[in-house]
Amino acid sequence: MHDDGRYDDPRVNRSEGPGSGVDPVSRETDHQQGWTTGGQPTIRPPEHDSGVRREPPAVGAARPVPESYVLPPSVPSGPDGRPVNAPDDRVATSVRRNAGASSRFEAPVHGNTPPVPAQPHPGAVPDAVTMVGAPGPGAVDAADAAYVSRETPTREEDDPPLAMEAMRAVQILNPSGEVTMPRPERTRVMCVANQKGGVGKTTTTVNLAVALALHGNRVLVVDLDPQGNASTGLNVPHHTGVPDVYDCLIDSVPLAEVAQEVEGIPNLWCVPATIDLAGAEIELVSVVARESRLNRAIEAYPGHFDYVFIDCPPSLGLLTVNALVAAQEVLIPIQCEYYALEGLNQLINNINLVRQHLNPKLAVSTILLTMYDRRTRLADAVEQDVRNHFGDKVLQAVIPRNVRVSEAPSYGQSVMTYDPGSRGATSYFEAAQEIAERGAKEPVNRNA
Ligand code: ADP
Ligand code: MG
Repeated sequence: MHDDGRYDDPRVNRSEGPGSGVDPVSRETDHQQGWTTGGQPTIRPPEHDSGVRREPPAVGAARPVPESYVLPPSVPSGPDGRPVNAPDDRVATSVRRNAGASSRFEAPVHGNTPPVPAQPHPGAVPDAVTMVGAPGPGAVDAADAAYVSRETPTREEDDPPLAMEAMRAVQILNPSGEVTMPRPERTRVMCVANQKGGVGKTTTTVNLAVALALHGNRVLVVDLDPQGNASTGLNVPHHTGVPDVYDCLIDSVPLAEVAQEVEGIPNLWCVPATIDLAGAEIELVSVVARESRLNRAIEAYPGHFDYVFIDCPPSLGLLTVNALVAAQEVLIPIQCEYYALEGLNQLINNINLVRQHLNPKLAVSTILLTMYDRRTRLADAVEQDVRNHFGDKVLQAVIPRNVRVSEAPSYGQSVMTYDPGSRGATSYFEAAQEIAERGAKEPVNRNA
């Protein structure tokens, strides 16, 4: 208060940026105020939250793109040099707002109790919320408030109808088992690689594999990461003692002897990785034809697969080289984040080396943008950059950052079965469909 009795206008303080009393919120928090990445660079709030992604500015328009994104112009741009479709035009927003009707979480008794996840079940469509205990007056409101997901849109018109979500779930689960994604003429061996960790390689492998298998393709997943995350995600046993990909690489055990059927998903098999694989990188050094052990194992597999997905470790060592020698195609997931493109040149160089010396069939066929956060301009900038550099190798489908995607592995499931109506499942379904359709159109590419 001033001497003359006046008070400071609080609005003045609020508009003064950092330190003004507006707490930063997480990037996953859909909140009108405090738009920030919690780190560098800070994202300015959009003018309004329409819930619909804005068109990215035209190429050449002044938008600062951090130096570190820029790759040498070795890869041609798309025809118009910019993304054709904004992903959110294609991917309807998932609803968690009406949690009372759509959440799979049980309601907490008190507003401040964290929600307890109920056991999900394959094929489930969003169901009614189950109240636990005996909530007192007002507890339902508090519980509903606690449900509001971090991805909750804030405007009424953002809510897609639940019926549509249920319809999408049925489309994704394809209970009739029809072949709705075209099967390729020959096996497509796809190596999912990026030496950065945490960019979505495993998530992409698991979800694309499940999507293709649910739609009539025969799919094998080879878990080539000693962490065994793909095996966990597919709920395939991979504790010590389980025959695994290590046995195939080091002891020449046939893949067919170690491949396990994935429970609940017809047409899907997985060659698991146990912790033994951690030693393979070193043991392979002294093995004959060390770079092509996996290739031989896959070629000798008697079962016919439409797709073989190899989930690579986050390194460019001998395991990844084995995957590159075995594959015809490389699928690179790129996280829509700062530093996303750093190190990509090194991966591309390695791919070129393998193509020159060990596997002339190898090509980068597919780039998938993952963990896209539509509320950040940074994600837009990364998308635009990646599309400019990789052109039509980049799938139109973009995977949003979606909490259902990250929850699914803890239930030994893909998001396709864990929450088939979610945005995560829809986007992976669209990505799988695109991959299948491209393969059907361009069979020559794969075997050239
Ligand atoms: P990588 O195999 O490249 O190391 P992962 O697929 O294991 O990466 O993903 C790293 C982490 O990010 C995991 O915890 C995963 O659940 C999470 N994650 C992956 N994709 C998404 C997504 N679209 N939305 C939210 N979380 C995701
Ligand atoms: Mg992984």
